[in-house]
Amino acid sequence: MKIIQATFIQSNTDYKACPAPEKPEYAFIGRSNVGKSSLINMLTGHPNLAKTSQKPGKTQLINHFLINDEWYLVDLPGYGWAQASKADREKWDTMIRQYLLQRTNLLCVFVLIDSRHEAQKVDLEFMEWLGKSEIPFSIIFTKADKQTKSKTQLHVEQYIQKMLEQWEEVPSYFVTSSVSRDGRDEILKFIDSLNKT
Ligand code: GDP
Repeated sequence: MKIIQATFIQSNTDYKACPAPEKPEYAFIGRSNVGKSSLINMLTGHPNLAKTSQKPGKTQLINHFLINDEWYLVDLPGYGWAQASKADREKWDTMIRQYLLQRTNLLCVFVLIDSRHEAQKVDLEFMEWLGKSEIPFSIIFTKADKQTKSKTQLHVEQYIQKMLEQWEEVPSYFVTSSVSRDGRDEILKFIDSLNKT
């Protein structure tokens, strides 16, 4: 898929205020600093579409972008930020879980995971909740350029193993780098195939 147009549409705190669910939608989520903004910018080819930040904990909003007038890309606020207050965490929880459970046009949630780290409890628990809630998701392992291929593979396998302890099937996954643009074509192809179903 060629991305001809990527336009910011709106930010919301309530899924009910999001654009009419009339086009296929894909949401991107992960821990703060996982590389989500960089990945969205790399995928769309718009270097400043999503705001990258060195400082996590910025405004917690559901951000809609319209791609090629055909599908929505949604940038969701990060989770697992250790310094967030209990009130902020609860706000995130309500807003995001409601969005994920109620958004009828959501075809896939991309869960971003930093490929440099061993399997993390917060990510596994979040994916377990997605599975139990029957929300379709795929995993995107980010920042693969930061270490050797074998190290990335080790961490990927660790996640798959942990997931197989809970589930009979594991979701599809992509290994990416926003620097080398690895994984870009595969993700866009995957979205294209879901758009056509
Ligand atoms: P976000 O908080 O999840 O949106 O993360 P950002 O996209 O702002 O990235 C966090 C930091 O990781 C920034 O310093 C990025 O430059 C860096 N980063 C993100 N993706 C990659 C990647 O694929 N490779 C490398 N080397 N650095 C990355």
